[in-house]
Amino acid sequence: MIPGPDRVIACPHCGELAIQPSLMSGNTFGAVLWSDGRQDAPMLPQFPAVTRCMKCSGYYWVRDAPEVGEMNVFVRGGADVPDAWNNAHEVAALDVEGYHDALQKGLGKTTDQERYLRVHLWWLYNDPGRMGGKVIITSNYRDNCTQLLRLLSIEDPNDIIMTAEIHRELGDFETAKWWLAKLPKKYQGIVDKLKQFASAKDSLVRQL
Ligand SMILES: [Zn+2]
Repeated sequence: MIPGPDRVIACPHCGELAIQPSLMSGNTFGAVLWSDGRQDAPMLPQFPAVTRCMKCSGYYWVRDAPEVGEMNVFVRGGADVPDAWNNAHEVAALDVEGYHDALQKGLGKTTDQERYLRVHLWWLYNDPGRMGGKVIITSNYRDNCTQLLRLLSIEDPNDIIMTAEIHRELGDFETAKWWLAKLPKKYQGIVDKLKQFASAKDSLVRQL
């Protein structure tokens, strides 16, 4: 894994500086893929696309924030770097409340943006299941899944897998199997696994 330069960005609401790290190259060595589509790859970290300002608590998309400068990751903290840059926080990923709040405040303006927020919210809800615990299907969980289903294509195979998986995790095993049956042969490997979980009436997020 080779880090790329750090981008120094300014909050579009108040100007507070933040650091967005980048990656020059990485790999999927040791990666774990989950049935809800999340990939945990220690050598290929994903940086948050949306964040909350540490100063004014305003939400913003990182790519929309004005760039103030760029610095090599190895000079960070050094005397040649302005204090304001050295003191800036790294952009932090949102938590469950943050994603809810960002959605309510209208950060999901485009389909892609809303989809990003809802998929990441769903993944956070599923985290207890990744750690051997139970996933509680609250009304917020169900509502987020319903809204996410609305954004998925009924023709894209990856979206069909996600659609089936949402139904399985909501306990609607027959609908999950109905969607899985629509996928072409090349997806047989994942179809077999998800069908097996659905047939066992297992609604938990699973490692693939
Ligand atoms: Zn701010």
